[in-house]
Amino acid sequence: FPIIRAQTSPDFVPDAKFYKIEAILRPWRIQQVSSALLKMGIRGVTVSDVRGFGAQGGLTERQAGSEFSEDTFVAKVKMEIVVSKDQVEGVIAKIIEEARTGEIGDGKIFLIPISDVIRVRTGERGEKAERMVGGHADMSSALSTS
Ligand code: ATP
Ligand code: GLN
Repeated sequence: FPIIRAQTSPDFVPDAKFYKIEAILRPWRIQQVSSALLKMGIRGVTVSDVRGFGAQGGLTERQAGSEFSEDTFVAKVKMEIVVSKDQVEGVIAKIIEEARTGEIGDGKIFLIPISDVIRVRTGERGEKAERMVGGHADMSSALSTS
């Protein structure tokens, strides 16, 4: 079973029950990514419009020469998805599958260990709070018990 490869260094691998997958992606690919995630039972997702620069913006800056100007920031969407540990690799693979064009500027994914999840409505914590009715875990257990 795929182990979380959060860090390639053997001396420190932060371990947690939940992880936040933070993906900075091309805005025009978000619809495709989120509908694919929804199909696999990922129902809790937060998105924000952001602006940034990586290799894509850097190239523009070097061509422009002198000062770093605001218009070298490229519009992106940040997608944040908290999932249980065993769902991490599947979600990352799906995001890559749906978001990748192969061109510079496809984006980046950060994996962040989460210490707890609290549902405001009920005060539930941990696994109870992170679970979504009809979510990925429910879909998987329905498959294995039928
Ligand atoms: P409830 O059952 O009380 O509705 P819920 O777990 O479905 O609780 P919401 O209150 O509907 O949570 O969630 C509010 C917002 O929190 C969502 O619109 C979404 O932006 C964000 N969110 C919820 N779950 C996640 C998650 N697992 N990962 C990322 N964002 C989430
Ligand atoms: N891990 C949750 C579940 O299986 C889903 C989390 C999410 O939708 N972000 O119910």
